[in-house]
This record gives sequence, C-alpha cells and structure tokens, in this order.
Amino acid sequence: MIDVPPAPLRLKLEGLALIDNWQALKLRSGPAECGAAVKANGYGLGAQEVVHRLSAAGCTQFFVAHWGEVAPLLGIIPSSQIAVLNGYNTADGKFARECGALPVLNSPDQITAWVSGGGGPCHVMLDSGINRLGIGPDQMGEAMFDRLDIDILMSHLASADEDSPQNDAQQKRFEDMSSGIACRRRSLANSAGIMLGDAFHHGLTRPGLSLYGGIPRADMAEFIKPVAAIEAQVIQIRDLAAGEPVGYNATFETSTEMRVATIAMGYADGYLRSFSGKGSAYFGGVHLPVIGRVSMDLITLDVSAAPDLRAGDWVAMDYDLRNASQLSGLSQYELLTGLGARFSRIWT
Ligand SMILES: *Cc1c(COP(=O)(O)O)cnc(C)c1O
Repeated sequence: MIDVPPAPLRLKLEGLALIDNWQALKLRSGPAECGAAVKANGYGLGAQEVVHRLSAAGCTQFFVAHWGEVAPLLGIIPSSQIAVLNGYNTADGKFARECGALPVLNSPDQITAWVSGGGGPCHVMLDSGINRLGIGPDQMGEAMFDRLDIDILMSHLASADEDSPQNDAQQKRFEDMSSGIACRRRSLANSAGIMLGDAFHHGLTRPGLSLYGGIPRADMAEFIKPVAAIEAQVIQIRDLAAGEPVGYNATFETSTEMRVATIAMGYADGYLRSFSGKGSAYFGGVHLPVIGRVSMDLITLDVSAAPDLRAGDWVAMDYDLRNASQLSGLSQYELLTGLGARFSRIWT
C-alpha cells in the first residue's frame, strides 16, 4: 500500500484540557459522581480518544445515543459503563441484549420490551418537562418499575443554560416523580445544570458540551478550557486587482488590490456557509477575514495583511466557541458535532 498523504486540515486536541474540564465539572458536582456524554463521536472530537482519556482520569459512566456508538468503545472501558440514551426496542435485537451496555428506557413500551426480552440492569429516563424523551408524569403506572433493576434514574433539563424558572420546576418535578422508585443513582444535570446548585447534582452529573470546551453559561468561562483548535493548509495564493469577484455567486468583490488565499476546508468539514463573510483565520497573530462564500471544500481569505504567507502554510481558524457561535448563528453544540471526517485529529 502506498501511504496516503497527510490531510490538509487538522483538529488539534488538548487531552489535558479535556481532563481538566472533567475534573473541574466533577469538583462542581459536589459529592455526586461525574459522568461524560460522548455521543456523536465525542461531540465530534473522537469518542475513542475521549473515552480513553476520561476513563484514565477516573470517569466510570459514559453516555451515547445509539447502539451503533457502543461498538467502538468496547475494549476501552467495561461495557456496563456505557448507557444508551435512545433506549431499547425489540428491533435493537441481540446486540443490545448481549453487548453489555445498558439501555436508558424511555417509555412504558421500552420497559415492556426490555422485561420481556429478559430484563437485567438498566437505566430509566423520566420526562420532567422537556417533553421530548422519557416517561412523562401522566405515563407513570403503579407497579411499572417493580420488575426493573434500575441503576441510573434520570431526567434531562431543557433550559439549564438560562436562568429560567423551568429549571426549578423540573428539579421539583423530578424529585416528585423519582421518589419511591428504587435505583442506585439519580441524575439530572448536564453541563450547565451542574452550575444550578446542590439540588441539581443528585448522585451523578452528565456533562457533555463543557468537557469539550463549550461554555453554555457565562459563569463557566472562568474554569472551562478550550479543547479543539482548527487549522487548514493554504492551497494557493492569488493577487487580485480591484473589482474582481471572489467565490460562488460573486457575493464578494475586491474594492482594492487584494491578496487572496484559498484554504483546504469547507462546509463539508463542518465550517458552514453561515461563516461566509464573517469568520476569520490567523497566521502568526495576523487576522485574515473569510471573504466570499464558504464552498464545500474551500474557503477564501483576504491575506493582504500577511505578505509572508505561502501555499503550504497552515492557518488557524478563529473557532472560539462562544464567539464563533455568535458570528455564525450556530450553537456551540453544532460547531463541535459538525466537525467532519476529513480532519486529522491530533491529540497532545
Ligand atoms: C447530551 C446529553 C447530556 C449532555 O448535555 P450537555 O448539555 O452537552 O452537557 C446529558 N444528558 C442527556 C440525556 C443528554 O442527551
């Protein structure tokens, strides 16, 4: 086999920042255990690498959404440490029953399917007001949980990133709904929920976003560190005269002479068109605005301020999650989970 050349775009990932973020969230979870949501390929960073590191740091509870996300983690951690948020249906079949990961049962039907398939340890999601997934207050039956061996009894907050009265309402409803149901641990808080106080911590917290550098509440900025940085390689540089259009549909036109660099990244890599004319890159501290439309595989930059820049050089994209979110209108979650498969993911 001939070696494949290195990718012209890379994600630089800070393993120590990931671990520091988990430790900081664990500290703020008080006496509760601190798990980790690693669904969607560890929010785009790479689930195997994330799980490997957090497990070594002492994390023993991981959450994925689909059964298909369990397989890559087998062998890295005991399968009983993996919870599958989407739950169990008969169609999930033999794998779900035998891989050793535990389903988060979300409905009376899922409970029935799990019990009639043989039962065993499981988790349960109660819907305390997000009205999305989980067993709602009107679905709770008398003996419904009696045949279950429940490890985590959980619910999910809808507005933890805001100071909303919905938070306390959900907390109280979760207390009501969960009281009297036998379980090993109760769990309510995601990343932002950890900041809402002791009443939200219960036995286990479930951060995702903030492990990866996301800052859903302003008060988290002081202790959450960035984990992912994006770099892309310059493919070509052109000197354009004034009055030249750049990119699809000529949405940008040079007003003066301009040096324009084209870099090897585009919306197929998760740098979406909403950054067109808004995003920017840096080369040795020099600010390089994105001009024209972001294409599938290419982005054009005004590099007039960087006369030393050459084809083959790497530029760093401005991907500060809060800033990039504000500029693009995308959530910090979307900015991370959209990061594509063409990046080489380089952990240090
Ligand atoms: C994704 C998810 C989390 C993690 O949420 P963040 O906001 O990313 O911290 C926790 N619990 C459940 C049920 C989830 O789906």
